[in-house]
Amino acid sequence: MSETTCPAEHVTEPVTGVTGPSLSPSRAADFLTCPLLYRFRVVDKLPEPPSAAAARGTLVHAVLERLFDQPAADRRPEVAVALLEPEWDRLVTEEPELAGLFGDEAERAGWLAQAREMLGRYFTLEDPTRLEPAHRELAVQAVLGSGLRLRGYIDRLDVSPSGDVRIVDYKTGTAPREDFEARALFQMRFYAVTLWRSEGTVPKVLQLMYLGNGEVMRYEPDAADLAATERKIEALWRAIERARSSGDWRHRPGKLCAWCPHQALCPAFGGTPPPLPAVPPATPPPAGASPGAGAASGDEIVLDSRDRDST
Ligand code: SF4
Repeated sequence: MSETTCPAEHVTEPVTGVTGPSLSPSRAADFLTCPLLYRFRVVDKLPEPPSAAAARGTLVHAVLERLFDQPAADRRPEVAVALLEPEWDRLVTEEPELAGLFGDEAERAGWLAQAREMLGRYFTLEDPTRLEPAHRELAVQAVLGSGLRLRGYIDRLDVSPSGDVRIVDYKTGTAPREDFEARALFQMRFYAVTLWRSEGTVPKVLQLMYLGNGEVMRYEPDAADLAATERKIEALWRAIERARSSGDWRHRPGKLCAWCPHQALCPAFGGTPPPLPAVPPATPPPAGASPGAGAASGDEIVLDSRDRDST
């Protein structure tokens, strides 16, 4: 795929105001990791305190998005670093509780130094002066045959002059490699299915850029891969609906428990989940959807800049 990219006219911008069952890759991955974690986040809608790791991820993503506002020749490491403070100020203005993340200025300085390191590592992985992304922070969605709507935000979408599409995702976490990688690849395939079903295009490359250790993972999907992922997503949604109907949201302890903000309520850590909230009425499936496609409304927490994997 060529490094130079051109705008993608064919990528659909999000439709707002839609209703019906929907799923984001973050929440799908939550259910795969631990059904009880999904329940805490989606059914109980329990608040979660901001974390320094998640905030650092949000900040680095914001800087990389802004970097491409600069003329190509100005996309240099020092320009990216200069964007850190103003982007952080903007994030704190939008979400004032972020300001309380650090005990003192030294702690904040150390955290900021880590963000600087990640940006420096980014420049060792690719040369942004040779790129012209078609989209950044692109909202995508597609409705599957069952009526389930897939939604999410893609960090960056590159389109080559020949029309090849590359989905790019930046990762800033430090979770155990084997758990994190499976989750990250599933997320990328989820995005690929969403683009495929909305635009009819199989992305040429899915590219994960690990800014924590400087690794890049590239994967070339084909239609068979994406069809298998789609079946997995549909099966996952049926499992979510079964858990919702039965109230059986099992906890599944694993390495990612270390990052779970709800340990105190989890039986695996001696806690007791709160009573389940009243079940909302089922959403009728959209016209033309297959039987059994209805699901409770309000399930979705869309992956956005404050809903990143911090692991
Ligand atoms: S602590 Fe672990 S097992 Fe418990 S809810 Fe969180 S992720 Fe699931």
